Amino acid sequence: MPVLPQADPAASARPSGNARSGGRTALRRLLAPALRQRGPAVRSVIRHTEHRIIRDSETAPTVVASCLSADCGWSAVPGPDVAAVDRQCMTHTGLNQEHTRFLRGFEDIAVVHRVEKT
Ligand SMILES: [Zn+2]
Repeated sequence: MPVLPQADPAASARPSGNARSGGRTALRRLLAPALRQRGPAVRSVIRHTEHRIIRDSETAPTVVASCLSADCGWSAVPGPDVAAVDRQCMTHTGLNQEHTRFLRGFEDIAVVHRVEKT
């Protein structure tokens, strides 16, 4: 069932014809058939549940890096040690003097926990 805006009973009591209500009147006319076809009112209850997200303590973040020079395509061997990945980047620049920019990323595994209320 499409979700339609609630009819505003106060709007019909207002005088029509002024510039401000013109758009609303047109919208009401457009929606009138759909509003008439609505069935009984349906209520829904949305419950709020609090969650937290943290890094999975059983895993280590992984560092990745790739060269941003056009048509290079080089990337470092991913690993948990940022210094080791940085050394690979510096070695790459040592072999290719123009390749000085790298996209580095730090990836980890996250876990979402539902916070129990006491
Ligand atoms: Zn490169």
